[in-house]
Amino acid sequence: MRPYSGEKLCAKCFTKSIEDKARATIANYKMFQHDDKIMVAVSGGKDSTTLLHILEKLEGNFPKSSLCAVTVDEGIKGYRDEALKFAVKNCRKLNVEHTITSFKDLFGVKLDELVKTIQKTRTDETRGLTPCAYCGVLRRRALNVAAREAGVNKLATAHNLDDETQTILLNLLHGDALRIARVNPVLAKNHPKLVQRVKPLCEVPEREIAFYAFQKRIKFQSIPCPYASTALRNDMRIILNRMEEKHSGTKFTLFKSIEKIKPALEKMANETKLRECKSCGEPTVDDICKTCQMLQALDVV
Ligand code: SF4
Ligand code: ZN
Repeated sequence: MRPYSGEKLCAKCFTKSIEDKARATIANYKMFQHDDKIMVAVSGGKDSTTLLHILEKLEGNFPKSSLCAVTVDEGIKGYRDEALKFAVKNCRKLNVEHTITSFKDLFGVKLDELVKTIQKTRTDETRGLTPCAYCGVLRRRALNVAAREAGVNKLATAHNLDDETQTILLNLLHGDALRIARVNPVLAKNHPKLVQRVKPLCEVPEREIAFYAFQKRIKFQSIPCPYASTALRNDMRIILNRMEEKHSGTKFTLFKSIEKIKPALEKMANETKLRECKSCGEPTVDDICKTCQMLQALDVV
């Protein structure tokens, strides 16, 4: 296993080691081809802004490739509007073409408005769902649509090692162990309307990314989303961070252990053929996609 933390390196070598890790992950999982058209999902936070900077640097070595960025404005007052400014500034600085898309434009509703409706409408379908559950499903859709419309063939997201290990535990706690098979550095492209997603930072711990961003003086938004504390993910973060503090390497070991059993999980999880949603035409495993189901349950479409 590659050492992943605790190295005794000077600040300069440490930031280079993070770029090396991203480069190694990209190579190990064969994330990119030399002529890929890549779109980076940039929220304006430290992870995605760091990813943008690293990919912009790497992409310079491949003249046939191209890089652009997208930001999804979920409509979270006092949070996303500020993050958006950081995303715009960073893209401008790096001369990366930048698109902004929003929940309001795509779904006709802001996340803040959805949250108010969730609080008012407690139905069987919406019970137990947090703002993050809606946000995650809608953002994935928004990113895919933006990437498809931009004509790119790769969508790079800034999921880091912490995100990936939290997702593994969340799947277990939700009783959906086979879903772990989907926690992949490169997601399968199993429908023509889906743009392949890749996660170049999936083996880099969050705090190392933060260190990189500070060291490189990257400007990013640091205030947390007002809805973040409502998510079970937040509890997973606390548990894993405690474990990591006591037993250095816990997150990486968990990530790699799961990778070993993934082929068995993939065999058990029947490969579901994607079809098109009867309501919106986007790829889905059911007759009606999750996005439409969620919006219809709240009566906002
Ligand atoms: Fe969306 Fe939740 Fe992230 Fe906020 S914390 S941006 S609501 S997923
Ligand atoms: Zn749909």
